[in-house]
Amino acid sequence: MSHKESENLLDKIVSLCKRRGFVFPSSEIYDGFTAVYDFGPYGVELANNIKQAWWKTMTQYRDDIVGLDAAIFMSPKIWEASGHVKGFSDPLTECKKCHTRLRLDALLEEAGIFADEKMSEEEINQIFNKNIKKIKCPTCGAADFTPGKKFNLLVQSNLGNFTNDWTKAPTYLRGETCQGIYVNFKNVMDTARVKIPFGVAQIGKAFRNEITARQFIFRTREFEQMEMQYFVKPGDDQKYYEEWKATRWKFYLDLGLSEKNLKWHKHENLVFYAKEAYDIEYNFPFGFKELEGVHARGDYDLVQHGKSSGQELSYLDPATNERYVPHVIETSAGVGRTLLAVLTEAYREEELAGETRIVLKLAPKLAPIKIAVFPLLKNKPELVKKARAIYDVLKLNWRCEFDDNGNIGKRYRRQDEIGTPYCLTIDFDSLEDGAATVRDRDTMKQERVDIAELENFFRKKI
Ligand code: ATP
Repeated sequence: MSHKESENLLDKIVSLCKRRGFVFPSSEIYDGFTAVYDFGPYGVELANNIKQAWWKTMTQYRDDIVGLDAAIFMSPKIWEASGHVKGFSDPLTECKKCHTRLRLDALLEEAGIFADEKMSEEEINQIFNKNIKKIKCPTCGAADFTPGKKFNLLVQSNLGNFTNDWTKAPTYLRGETCQGIYVNFKNVMDTARVKIPFGVAQIGKAFRNEITARQFIFRTREFEQMEMQYFVKPGDDQKYYEEWKATRWKFYLDLGLSEKNLKWHKHENLVFYAKEAYDIEYNFPFGFKELEGVHARGDYDLVQHGKSSGQELSYLDPATNERYVPHVIETSAGVGRTLLAVLTEAYREEELAGETRIVLKLAPKLAPIKIAVFPLLKNKPELVKKARAIYDVLKLNWRCEFDDNGNIGKRYRRQDEIGTPYCLTIDFDSLEDGAATVRDRDTMKQERVDIAELENFFRKKI
């Protein structure tokens, strides 16, 4: 696919998301709110299915990982101890002419110059100054910028602070979900009867004051993370790191992403907490970009919180009586980015008898609606009644949709666009032979299935 076609693909996905109720820009009736999006009726189903797939592979299918749901607001001391108040930042520059604020590493990278958000202010400014002639403001074209400065990404609030100048002692909306796991390490250990190695999994919102937020739901200021922290014995880090890399790669294949659209990226400049960091990148319409980070965080977080809180955040090995601070392997994925990757992979346009069929070839487990049930005609009560009765049974097991609007062809197109794997129609023959027509989204082939056998049929298929 050419660059232009790819850009075009993003526009098409954005348009489908709006048209079919997957993703809406936030606060749209008030002209929107930059870098925040809402999931519509089908978007929330798809996001829930992604989260459920993750949650199951992390907790249900394993006996060494437990779940947690920590609050978004936490003591500000946590963000001091974790290093985020000081060190969680991206380099910012401002165009002196139009005052657009830009993320400096991204600006350099777009001009083909290697840079990284984790570089020090000095390092990145050196590169900036050396290449200044090659760089123009993407908004107004001027070439006059302020020097790069670190801009802290934590979002502040006045929660619980009733003074007039709350900015002197703000509380933070969490910038990553995993801190809630570290500060509950002892609680989990004391209650869940876990033994090293064990993990804690959490899904939840995180907030970052991203400087430039573009590319649809890829980079937003409010987003959801699926994070798992795996606590291991010091020295076992490498072994589990490799295991988790393989496990996480397979997760995306199981969601239906193809291997050719995935790749590993190793971080050379490490963020303050990391010992080793690899990203799984996906080939989005705007190129390969981070989907998930797999990080070896060492004992950094538990040591920091242990020191800062004065609590003992260590582990006593019951077999050897040895006490140590566990090391952490972290897997950290974004729900929005996974959703965008899944949509990118699934989107197809097919030419059908002079017409274009848009279809989302989603893995059935991810499809927002699994089965759509149609009576052939809306004004035939016997068909509607029969179709309703089937719908009422099937919906107890699968997310179904009943639709009696318009001709069958139109109803198929609508379900194709939201990725429904099966459509089921009750026609006049059904009243005679007790069978329904089931149409497959991908092959568009239709087959007659006994109504009494429908549940078995779908159980095998979905
Ligand atoms: P990037 O380099 O793209 O800013 P990051 O390295 O800061 O990402 P992490 O801190 O490792 O990201 O966060 C883990 C995961 O959380 C990312 O892989 C991504 O899926 C998701 N994520 C992070 N920031 C955002 C954001 N602003 N919008 C949507 N998802 C995000």
